[in-house]
Amino acid sequence: MTLAAYACDPAQSRGRRYPEPQAPTRTAFQRDRDRIVHSTAFRRLVYKTQVFLNHEGDLFRTRLTHSLEVAQLARSIARPLGLNEDLVEAIALAHDLGHTPFGHAGQDALNACMAQHGGFEHNLQSLRVVDALEERYPAFDGLNLCFETREGVLKHCSRSNAEQLEEREPGGVGRRFLDRSQPGLEAQLCNLADEIAYNAHDIDDGVRSGLITLEQVAQVPLFGLHVAATLAEHPGLQGRRVLYEAIRRMLSALVYDAIDTTREALAQAAPASADAARTMAPLVSFSQQARAQSAQLKAFLFRNLYRHPRVMETTGQAQEVVRELFQRYLAEPAQMQAGFTARSDSARAVADYIAGMTDRFALREHERLTGRKLLAGAP
Ligand code: MG
Repeated sequence: MTLAAYACDPAQSRGRRYPEPQAPTRTAFQRDRDRIVHSTAFRRLVYKTQVFLNHEGDLFRTRLTHSLEVAQLARSIARPLGLNEDLVEAIALAHDLGHTPFGHAGQDALNACMAQHGGFEHNLQSLRVVDALEERYPAFDGLNLCFETREGVLKHCSRSNAEQLEEREPGGVGRRFLDRSQPGLEAQLCNLADEIAYNAHDIDDGVRSGLITLEQVAQVPLFGLHVAATLAEHPGLQGRRVLYEAIRRMLSALVYDAIDTTREALAQAAPASADAARTMAPLVSFSQQARAQSAQLKAFLFRNLYRHPRVMETTGQAQEVVRELFQRYLAEPAQMQAGFTARSDSARAVADYIAGMTDRFALREHERLTGRKLLAGAP
């Protein structure tokens, strides 16, 4: 792996919160990736909702397959740009570790429950998972990841949360949200790869679920272009293969657009180091046209898929599950597993406990505590 001058170099890492000796053969970022893959939170991603609730079908994306796709896309873009592939892989695999069960419905419900207790935000929760909640090491909480991985995991952060982070860790991962600087290029890249991944896989899952049709998505210029090109080259091609070929072409086009646009921006700005890139405007991006088209597609998916009556129906029930779990645990902390019951920050302990659940564990717990079975059809 040849690293460009502006890439994050593991030998120059700002380090771990608890100093550790170097590993004999792996770089610091490889080691971070390995710690993430072996974490409990990572294994739970397989039973967490992306868009479709986990029990709706075996072929839809879960948070785990989404995270793997983000890692694949981020690595594909990182290599030709001379960015650090190990670091983008670590960030991509960890970026959704803080997601609640039931996707955004779960996060919104938990955020509402936590309104009087500092709120709940899944990016910050991902950082909490790797910094504090994983219990794997004798000497410290969390996974003790490098600064560069942690800054990538904390994709967004409110000002008040950033101020609290800064207080606990001066000059740490909260700082950039206060002085409005950028994260390293690898972190910037993972945000873009995330967007490429969900736009593409949500078309796939959406069409296969029957909630949207291929004809409907083909009205969206970014995707319609690739459907038309597919049919022009393969007249008579039908069904699934049209869908997959058009998605494959769209993915390639977005990946190459990101590579070309970013390469040009890097050539112009010529950051001499990873730190220099942090002080500049964002450098990893789509072209203006691709940015606009991607936003259009996102808006389409929002209106037609994420807000589809059938998705909304399950969303309402999922929120009820989270709300009722929250109330029950807060009133009766002993119902939670040891480690959460005795914490003095009781509301945050409940939020941490619920956020860590898989969809099906949350449903089982809800049934155990209320005697009611919501989202019937779940395992
Ligand atoms: Mg994501």
